[in-house]
Amino acid sequence: MGCVIFDFDSTLISVESLDEILSSKVQSNQELTSRLRSITDRGMSGDLPFSESLRLRLELVRPVLEDVRAFGNRAHQYVTDGMPGLIAGLVRAGHDVWIMSGGLFEAIEPVALKLGIPSSHIAAVRLQWNSDGSLSGIDPRDPFAVSKVMGARKLAASWPDPVVMIGDGATDLDLYEQGVVQYFIAFAQHQARPSVVSRAAQLAHNTDELRLMLEALI
Ligand SMILES: [Mg+2]
Repeated sequence: MGCVIFDFDSTLISVESLDEILSSKVQSNQELTSRLRSITDRGMSGDLPFSESLRLRLELVRPVLEDVRAFGNRAHQYVTDGMPGLIAGLVRAGHDVWIMSGGLFEAIEPVALKLGIPSSHIAAVRLQWNSDGSLSGIDPRDPFAVSKVMGARKLAASWPDPVVMIGDGATDLDLYEQGVVQYFIAFAQHQARPSVVSRAAQLAHNTDELRLMLEALI
């Protein structure tokens, strides 16, 4: 038995959830849309700390809780081919399966439940919402709003070895390079970021390759 942790955006699903949520609010504004994308790309390639990328994007466009929930309810259409079967197999084999994401908890939960991953195994950003659903701010106590490494350190004691992280971003690779997980597999089906791919020992181009690599590790 081991622990398999999946990144969400551009790994379990084909898109970046926060960008989808925010850009759907400013569709007609090309300039805002491209500024959002540029901030995400700088964050994912490691040029900008995650906490900064989150803050800048939420400053640019303020989502309401309803926007986030609406994305969550349609996000199953973006699930990567082969992931539902792969995850069901891992759960059946008794492995601990987690989603760890810089995305928003409410956007991820409906997809996780469909994939058979309980809410307790979702580590993601929790924003604070006012009672009318407007955004109050970033929860200052949420370690995942700072970085995945900081959040993961708090959870790592409960994970059975070996721990494998799968993702496309610099923040995913960080978990391996900082020693929080034992293995990292770069997942390049949707995004092959040179700064990540060049430093990853293992690279999966699709879920078939990923399945074979996991079978060899756990
Ligand atoms: Mg990602």
